[in-house]
This record gives sequence, C-alpha cells and structure tokens, in this order.
Amino acid sequence: MTSSLSTVPCFIDGRDEQGSTWFDKIDPATGRVNGRVCEAGSELVERAVSAARRSLSGPWARTTLAERAAMLRRIADALEAHIDEIVDAEITDTGKPITATRNVEIPRAIANFRAFADIALAEEKADFYTPLAGGGRARNITVRAPIGVIGVVAPWNLPLLLLTWKVAPALVCGNAVVVKPSEHSPRTALLLARIATQAGLPEGVLNIVQGHGANAAGAHLTAHPGVDAITFTGETRTGEAIMKAASQGVRPVSLELGGKNAAVIFADSDIDAAAAGTVRSMFDNCGQVCLTTERILVQRPIYERFLESIVRHAETAIRPGDPRAQSTTLGPAISAEQRAKVLGFYDRALAAGASAVIGGGALQMPKPFNDGFWVQPSVFTGLPDDAEICRKEVFGPCAHVSPFDDEDEAVARVNASDYGLASALWSGDADRAERVARRIQSGTVWINCWRVRDERAAFGGFKKSGLGREGGEWSLDFYSELKTICRAENA
Ligand code: NAD
Repeated sequence: MTSSLSTVPCFIDGRDEQGSTWFDKIDPATGRVNGRVCEAGSELVERAVSAARRSLSGPWARTTLAERAAMLRRIADALEAHIDEIVDAEITDTGKPITATRNVEIPRAIANFRAFADIALAEEKADFYTPLAGGGRARNITVRAPIGVIGVVAPWNLPLLLLTWKVAPALVCGNAVVVKPSEHSPRTALLLARIATQAGLPEGVLNIVQGHGANAAGAHLTAHPGVDAITFTGETRTGEAIMKAASQGVRPVSLELGGKNAAVIFADSDIDAAAAGTVRSMFDNCGQVCLTTERILVQRPIYERFLESIVRHAETAIRPGDPRAQSTTLGPAISAEQRAKVLGFYDRALAAGASAVIGGGALQMPKPFNDGFWVQPSVFTGLPDDAEICRKEVFGPCAHVSPFDDEDEAVARVNASDYGLASALWSGDADRAERVARRIQSGTVWINCWRVRDERAAFGGFKKSGLGREGGEWSLDFYSELKTICRAENA
C-alpha cells in the first residue's frame, strides 16, 4: 500500500481502477498541488454499480448478521493498524491539525464500524402471534432485509468520519455500496476500501468512484438506476439536486444538510465554561463542521462579560500553523473558493456596519503556508437578525453575537431560521434548559456542552437541515427493508 498517495485512483470490484481523466488535488495549507485524482466518468460509475450489484449474488448475500458484524470489527481492527497512514492522508487532503485528526476524528471514524456492529446485534424485534379463525395461530417475525446497492455521496469537512457513518450501517445490513467522496478529500475513502478488502470484505461490496459532483461522478452515481437508495451529506442546495435524482425510480433518500446553529447563553450560566465551549463550537475544524455555532444570543446582564471571556479564550485556543505540528489548533479553509466565500461574508458584514470583536479578514501565514487558504477566526456584533451573516450558513470560523432579554425571545429568535440542525444552551438551571430545549426546532440540542455524540442517538435536521435521521436504529431503518414473515402454526 503506497503511503504518499500522490495518485488517487477509484476502487472498483476489489481493486484500484484508473480512468483516463485526472484532476489536480491542492493542499489547502500551502495552496500547492499535492497529488492527482481520477475523475470517474459515467463508464467507471457504471462499472462500480455493476460490481456492487454482482456482489449481492455472491458470498456477501449469504452472510448472517453475526458474520457481517464480525466483518465490521475486522475492518475496524485493520483500520487501527493503519491509523498513521490514514491520519496522514486526511491531513494531506484537508490541512486539518494533527491532534484533532489523530485523537478524535479518525478514531471516531473507526469506532463507527464497532458501534454499528453492536447496534445491529443488540436489536431485538419481538415475535408475536395472531389467532387464526379456524383455530391455531400465526407467528409474526420481523426481519431486516438489505435494500441492495447504496449510493453514498459524502462531503469534505469530516471526510472519513461522515463516510463511515453511512458505510458501516449500510454494510451491517447486508447492502453493497458505491461511495463518491468529495473531490476535496479523496484519499481516506480509497484507503478504507483497500484496507476493508484486505480485511476480507468480498470484492465489489465497497466501491469508490472519485471525482466532482454536479454533471460529473456524483450526478452519474445518483442518476444511475442500479442504485437502490441514496444517502447524502452536504449543502442544502446539493441536497435538492440529489432528491430530484432520487425521485427517478422513487428511491429512498437520506439527506444531512446545512445549518445555521445557535448558542443561547443564559445569565445564570457558568460564563467561563460557556465561553470556552462556545469558542470551540465556533472554531473547531476552522468552523467547517455542520454543527458549528454561527449565531450566539447572550442574556443582556452578562453580554459584555461574555464577550470579554470569548476574546480571552480565543487568544489561547487559536493557534494556526503547520497542520502536522502538535501545537497547531487551526488549519486552513478547504479551498480557494471556500476561503473567498468566507471572506465575502466577512466583508459584507463589515460593510453592513458590523464590528469585528476578533478577526474579520484573511490570515497571513509565514512560508510555506503563505499561499494556503487561511482565514481569521472572527466574532462580529452589531447586526440585526435579518442580516446576511445571521441568516446564511457561512461554514467558516465565525459567529455573530447579540443580546436577548427573556426565554421567549431567545426561543423565537433561534427558531426563526430556515435551518434546524443543532443548538447549544448554556444555563445553571437544568429545568429551564430542558424546558427551552423542548421548544427549540433543531435535531440536536446540547445543554452545557457541544458536539457530544453517541452513535446510538438519533441525528439529523429539522427544516432545510435534512430529511430523515441517522444513528442507532434509525440508520438501520434507512439501510434495510423491514419484512414480516407470518407462519401459520397448528393449535
Ligand atoms: P457539497 O454539497 O458541495 O458537496 C457534497 C458532496 O456532494 C461532494 O461529494 C460533491 O462532489 C457532491 N455533489 C455536489 N453536487 C452534486 C450533484 N449535483 N449531484 C451529486 N453529487 C453532488 O457540500 P460540501 O461543501 O462538501 O460540504 C459542506 C456542506 O455540508 C455544508 O453545508 C455543511 O453544513 C454540510 N454538512 C452537513 C452535515 C450534516 O450532518 N447535516 C455534516 C457535514 C456537512
């Protein structure tokens, strides 16, 4: 297995596959080309879907749930044995700081395989009996059947973590999978497929098609009639295109989309803990987490003190630098376009009259990072809720902070959003926090914490943040068809 991965092919039917078209992969930290990636055309996508389909009439189709769960555990063990290589590939693609990548994201990506092995095995569906008119009874057994070929379209922000979050439950349910990773993060998907195959996953069960999305590999995959269900994580606008594609053939679709997540800081909160948690929720992964806080409402009596505390915590928490240095906590934006998009939001917020409490522009870095896609983590104040930066998802390291007076106002303002993915409440009053949490329209509400994730919990978004839920049994529900077997028995 090559470690540098300067050439990133597709992976189809158990082996690397090269097409005839390639594109340059840019290192976001330096702005320099660090590899070339296969651009799968419709022919390679066709081969991947056919390989997946064929695998469903091979040995994979005859595996029991226990055998598939054991397979997932073997994959997790094999990934762990290759963790340094995987971490290096993820950093090469994204410029993420090594500490978070090595200690959190890749271990959690691996943990998805063990978690879904456990979740599937733990599930018990009770049998029940129906009396028959002529005497005797019928036994009803509910079992899960695989759907068939699952098309996975994944984003770049947490590449392996979000990809395995879909691949692991799809496999444990007995499906075959074709993954289209983001064009910005192709390497870890390839490593996963190679390593899983070496660990014994039959050929064709997990295939990777590299390339772009619209009018390219992503669109070819989602339009392919041989794909039986589509699962997508990414932008809301892309979600609309994917849903349209899924409507051809009335195929199931799961959408995890964008957010404009709020944090509410009540006057009775521990200000220091709330500021530390909120700084993390704004700036982790350079703000490129769907759960990132981009709107902060602070109860008026502590507004100034909270802002001061944010600035103090940001000063120690933000350490941009070489992604491979242990001291680095902030990496670059993923691409030149993403950097320009984030800076456009900053410029328009300032032009509309916002004050930048911290940051507000591009981040100048020393060589060799001077041409990378760095942006300053930024906190703005002074704009009304209908300002662009308070409504639209930036997907960068920034938030707008404003005061509020009472609970009803906070709830109304949090809910006045097109999105509803995640929210964070900070309060010393547990009853109040839970009361408010129940009124908030978002798929996850954290109280006095942020981004605490359990694979068994339901995850997804209200409104334009998505369709359906993932996690625990909800993932199993998406990746399988429930079937009732009803058997008449003699009295
Ligand atoms: P994106 O929508 O630009 O791309 C995601 C994937 O879709 C990529 O693989 C891309 O190539 C592909 N794609 C793009 N257009 C396509 C098309 N027409 N047909 C098929 N495939 C297509 O998103 P991104 O920039 O990679 O990710 C950032 C976005 O993802 C943000 O909006 C963020 O909030 C969201 N996100 C949501 C969650 C969640 O769980 N809700 C998690 C992470 C990221």
